[in-house]
Amino acid sequence: MKLVLLGPPGAGKGTQAASIVEKYNLPHISTGDIFRKNLKEGTELGLKAKSFMDRGELVPDSLVVEIVVDRLSEGDTANGYLLDGFPRTVVQAEYLNDFLEKNDDHLDYVLNIKVDPNVLVERAVGRRICKDCGATYHVDFNPSQVEGVCDKCGGELYQRSDDNEETVTNRIKVYTDETSPLIEYYNDKKLLVDINGQKDISDVFTDIVDILGE
Ligand code: ADP
Ligand code: AMP
Repeated sequence: MKLVLLGPPGAGKGTQAASIVEKYNLPHISTGDIFRKNLKEGTELGLKAKSFMDRGELVPDSLVVEIVVDRLSEGDTANGYLLDGFPRTVVQAEYLNDFLEKNDDHLDYVLNIKVDPNVLVERAVGRRICKDCGATYHVDFNPSQVEGVCDKCGGELYQRSDDNEETVTNRIKVYTDETSPLIEYYNDKKLLVDINGQKDISDVFTDIVDILGE
């Protein structure tokens, strides 16, 4: 199964991705995670991406498609994958389309997680992530049992540097301007399924399983 998760920053893509990849045994390909890993390791790609990420802007398409094509060419993607945070522009979507067509392949679903814009800033600013395993929490909506400590692995939780109000507000604007046209793009291709991301985390997942099948 080949899936794309679409939705504004804070919609719950990463949270649902963790459950989806576990249930359906798919590799989770998050371009944001790939950039953060490169940043942490101080690679050239990480350094190039940093200034865009810090400002809440999109990393240029040419850099993004290169890393995604490399990742999709790895062996573990043969039976499917979940793309989270990619594509984010029509150029990226066209690139993915060409890549799939070249391999006589296609996407199965684009899950569009819809959330009222008013809650996005609160969700993103309260997000906490485990340094070791990447699990996602929220200080109010999905807190860890012990503050600052991951329930799953005991790792330390941190706040992303771009999860401050100013940057998140810009990321939402960038989403509206540059990414939301993908809703129509994938709707036209009959791939789009809307998901109500406003429900409890477990109920959102139940709705996704209803679409994807047991
Ligand atoms: P995205 O990957 O789309 O940016 P995340 O999955 O990281 O979003 O979720 C953003 C924040 O909102 C996280 O702190 C997460 O715990 C919280 N969150 C995710 N889904 C829900 C939900 N359905 N209800 C309340 N909070 C949620
Ligand atoms: P995310 O983890 O998905 O919230 O992404 C964090 C940041 O990484 C974004 O604000 C962008 O700067 C960058 N980024 C991630 N994915 C993409 C993409 N597909 N295209 C451009 N920039 C991206």
